[in-house]
Amino acid sequence: MYEMCAGVDKPGGALVWHVMAKNAARTLCGRRLGQRVDGASAQRAGHCSTCMALFGKLMTAPPAVGSPAGTDH
Ligand SMILES: [Zn+2]
Repeated sequence: MYEMCAGVDKPGGALVWHVMAKNAARTLCGRRLGQRVDGASAQRAGHCSTCMALFGKLMTAPPAVGSPAGTDH
């Protein structure tokens, strides 16, 4: 599963929701989110366009090699 995490777009920038990379301490767009964000401002935040684009690709990608469902030869 992927986890959403609110953080700034860039230092001093707008607050957006990023998608955390699997087994990594950074977002799909390569950002490390240092500071905590309060819930009220996180609720008004938009979505990181880079993360959303990469997340969409991950969701539509074929199953990884080695997946039991993907062996048909
Ligand atoms: Zn992002």
